[in-house]
Amino acid sequence: MANPIYAALPTTIFSIMSGLAREHGAINLGQGFPDAPGPLAIRQKAADETLNGDNQYPPMPGIAPLRQAVAAHYARAQRLDFDWASEITVTSGATEALAASFLALLEPGDEAILFQPMYDSYAPVIRRAGGVPVLARLAPPAWRWDRTMLEALITPRTRMIVLNNPLNPTGVVYGEDDLAVLAGVCVAHDLIAVCDEVWEHVVFAGAVHRPLIAFPGMRGRTVKIGSAGKMFALTGWKVGFLCAAPPLTEVLAKAHQFLTFTTAPNLQAAVAWGLEHCAGWLDEMPRDLAASRDRLTEGLRREGFAVLPSAGTYFLTVDLPGSGVLEDDLAFAYRSVREAGVTAIPVSAFYEREPVTSILRLCFSKADATLDEAVLRLAKARDLSIRAHNRG
Ligand code: PMP
Ligand code: GLN
Repeated sequence: MANPIYAALPTTIFSIMSGLAREHGAINLGQGFPDAPGPLAIRQKAADETLNGDNQYPPMPGIAPLRQAVAAHYARAQRLDFDWASEITVTSGATEALAASFLALLEPGDEAILFQPMYDSYAPVIRRAGGVPVLARLAPPAWRWDRTMLEALITPRTRMIVLNNPLNPTGVVYGEDDLAVLAGVCVAHDLIAVCDEVWEHVVFAGAVHRPLIAFPGMRGRTVKIGSAGKMFALTGWKVGFLCAAPPLTEVLAKAHQFLTFTTAPNLQAAVAWGLEHCAGWLDEMPRDLAASRDRLTEGLRREGFAVLPSAGTYFLTVDLPGSGVLEDDLAFAYRSVREAGVTAIPVSAFYEREPVTSILRLCFSKADATLDEAVLRLAKARDLSIRAHNRG
C-alpha cells in the first residue's frame, strides 16, 4: 500500500489552479511564472550547448563552471565567500535542494520550525524524512515573528528553522532586525537554518535582501538555497543551488546523489554563462516587475480592492474582506476561475493549521494588457460573490 503521508496529500494548489485555468480558458495569475520567454541570450546558450556541448552525465555536485559562477555571483552580489569546490552543490531546482536538506539533516523525531504561510513542499518532505514540523503562524498585515513566539516553539528536539525570504506568498522581504532575531535564536539553541532564498533577486527598490548566512554565528549552521529559475525568469529550468559550509555540504551531496544525482548539463552551462554575462538582467528584471506590480496594484485599487504591499517575488496579495468580498479565499478563488475567467491562489493553501482565509495571492509577472483584463475580471468575480451572498 501507499505511504500514508503521501496518500493523504492533496494535489498542489498550483497544479489545481493551473488545471482550472486551462479548463476555463482563464487568465492565470495563480501559479507563479512570467508570461515572457526569458532572456534570449541564455536560451540561445542552452540551445548551443544542446547541439554542440556535452550531453552525458555531468559531475554529481554540478559542473565546475556553474559552481564557480555561483560562488563568484554571491561574492559580488551578497559579499559571501563560498569556496566553489567544497561549498556549492547544483540541484534540480530549489525543490530538490529543500528535499536534500531535510533528508540529510533531520533524524527521526527531530523538530523543524516552519513559518506559515509556508511553501507547500516543506512539511510533507520533512515528515517523510522522519522529522516533525512545528508550525509558527504569521498573520497579516505584517507577517512577522518575534523572539517570544520562536522561544515558545523550541524544545530539546528542535533541530532546524526553515526560512523563506523573500516570502512567497506575501511579498515580504525580511530586513536586518527580523533576521537578527532569527539568527540569535539559531545560535542560542544550536539550530540549523535552511534558507529558501529563491526570490533573493526579485526584490524591488526600497527593499534589500540580506542572506541569513551572513549574520553572526550563522556561517557554519546555514544552508542557503537559490534558484536560477527565479534569477533568470526561466521557472521550468529547475536549476537550483545548495550553498553551505563543507561539513553540511558533504552530507547534503549524499542526499542529492540519490535524489537526482545530477541536473541537465546544457542548462547548467547556460546558467553559468548567464551568471557571468547577464548581470544587467538582474538589475532590469526587478525594475520591470515593479512596474507590473504597480500597474496591477493601481488597477485593483481603482476597482476598490484592498491591496497589501509587496516588496519582492512575483506576487501581491489582496485583503478580501477589505475589498468587499464576503466569502473565504478558497471559495473566491474557485468562483473567480469558474465564473469570471481569472485564476488566483488562496493564501490559506500555505497553512496546515489555523489558516488565514482572508487573503488572495495574484501573480503580476504578466503583460500589461493581461493584468488590465484580470482586474476587470476580478471586479466581476467580486460582484458575483456579493450577489451570491445577498441571495444566500
Ligand atoms: N521555494 C519557494 C518559496 C518557491 O516559491 C519556489 C517556486 N516558486 C520554490 C521553492 C521552487 O523552486 P524551483 O522551481 O527552483 O524548484
Ligand atoms: N512556486 C510557484 C508558485 O508559488 C509554483 C511552483 C509549483 O507549481 N510547484 O506559484
